[in-house]
Amino acid sequence: MLSTMQDVPLTVTRILHHGMTIHGKSQVTTWTGEPEPHRVTFAEIGARATRLANALRDELGVDGDQRVATLMWNNSAHVEAYLAIPSMGAVLHTLNLRLPPEQLAWIVNHADDKVVIVNGSLLPLLVPLLPHLPSIEHIVVCGPGDRSGLAGVAPRVHEYEELIADRPTTYDWPELDERQAAAMCYTSGTTGDPKGVVYSHRSIYLHSMQVNMTESMGLTDKDTTLVVVPQFHVNAWGLPHATFMSGVNMLMPDRFLQPAPLADMIERERPTHAAAVPTIWQGLLAEVTANPRDLTSMANVTIGGAACPPSLMEAYDKLGVRLCHAWGMTETSPLGTMAHPPAGLSDEEQWPYRVTQGRFPAGVEARLVGPGGERLPWDGESAGELEVRGPWIAAAYYGGADGEHLRPEDKFSEDGWLKTGDVGVISTDGFLTLTDRAKDVIKSGGEWISSVELENALMAHPDVAEAAVVAVPDEKWGERPLATVVLKEGAAETDYEALKSFLAESGIAKWQLPERWSVIDAVPKTSVGKFDKKVIRKQYAEGELDVTQL
Ligand code: AMP
Repeated sequence: MLSTMQDVPLTVTRILHHGMTIHGKSQVTTWTGEPEPHRVTFAEIGARATRLANALRDELGVDGDQRVATLMWNNSAHVEAYLAIPSMGAVLHTLNLRLPPEQLAWIVNHADDKVVIVNGSLLPLLVPLLPHLPSIEHIVVCGPGDRSGLAGVAPRVHEYEELIADRPTTYDWPELDERQAAAMCYTSGTTGDPKGVVYSHRSIYLHSMQVNMTESMGLTDKDTTLVVVPQFHVNAWGLPHATFMSGVNMLMPDRFLQPAPLADMIERERPTHAAAVPTIWQGLLAEVTANPRDLTSMANVTIGGAACPPSLMEAYDKLGVRLCHAWGMTETSPLGTMAHPPAGLSDEEQWPYRVTQGRFPAGVEARLVGPGGERLPWDGESAGELEVRGPWIAAAYYGGADGEHLRPEDKFSEDGWLKTGDVGVISTDGFLTLTDRAKDVIKSGGEWISSVELENALMAHPDVAEAAVVAVPDEKWGERPLATVVLKEGAAETDYEALKSFLAESGIAKWQLPERWSVIDAVPKTSVGKFDKKVIRKQYAEGELDVTQL
């Protein structure tokens, strides 16, 4: 029997209309570095997005599912692009401005981008690439920055504000199939070519609803979210669409991502929520330790993208800021889990739940798979690779304009689940604890050592600012851990034996304690601010690290 319910497509167009009307008074505030930030209401954003759609169609010829790329910071114009491009039936392609230029060019060519909207301050990155980007027909420049490099380039150049001025504020939005492509994002690709994930209208709509649920980020129109996670990193974790759905005010840092301006904007604008990777929170903590600011408005902060050291959570608890741990991937839109403890627990009882990666929402099904492909129980002990499926989880990678979508065996199971490459355990009550990336786990004498567990324990030491542990080849054991540590400013001279004892005292088994140690100036980071362990492994292999063996 068929249902009697209406079959209304779940589209970004609906999110745009809803936000600009029902939540027309909500605001997007963009930091400018001037005395006053730039403020614009959702109603104005909606009107400007409508004018942008008219301009893209009438002036630039975007009339189907062409890819419109953005090379932009987090700001209100970028939100306009997020809403206009998918709603008109085209595909928003956010470009990661921290990628090496050759990878960026590869991605633009693979996606066959026709238009790129670029912030003026990022032109020095784009202009030298243009001779290698034959598909780009139009460049739309937005915001401050020197335009002189654009003289004589092949694509047509437009000024964003001039382009959208005097355009109609209505648009005949097409009736879209909710399964159609709305946006795309390439994985940061530590090995091989980057892989394109293509989000549908439906996946964005459902993911936005989940983001706003109380068991996830729990945002409403009473909130202001500081969106530090870049709009090019999994659509800023879905926030621009989710906020438009619920009228959540946005605070956008633009290019002012250093700890000092971030602390200033929090103290001044008093956001109630924020989202960023651990590196950002580490930097901000050092800043407010040196120059105190009031961060207490942020009752609820989402931290993810890499494991959050428990010591960082504790430090923020003392500042009156509660970090809530989340796990996700480009392939999962990204919301996969969030670590809200179950009801009815004291602060002390909540702690073991808070340091996990969290619980799965109803839209994300999970299973653990052992090395031989066997299903493992949720007993809090059996460690295996996490596989997930659900309506906002990727089923394939983009195969290029004429190609079939790709389903590599190491990323998708035969029965259609995403193989995350993350290794962990799940407790009987459904909380996920990741112990490692499959490729980072240290395989020592047939046993596994979790690099993340060692890092978390080391980062709890008062002299240690950051620590990254990688597997290095060992004649006797196959692999052993190498601990690289960044010391805090003014820390006493390194005593590796003392660090090793500290690890033992914090409960690390004796056979897991590293014997190779190195002090480094900074942990190398990927384009989205995560520890880049392959760089450390390479530095070790090439003898570039000063290693002490105990
Ligand atoms: P990306 O697609 O660049 O966002 O990277 C996704 C990967 O980041 C995941 O597969 C995990 O390995 C890692 N990751 C994300 N969130 C967490 C977390 N809370 N704890 C540990 N690793 C995480």
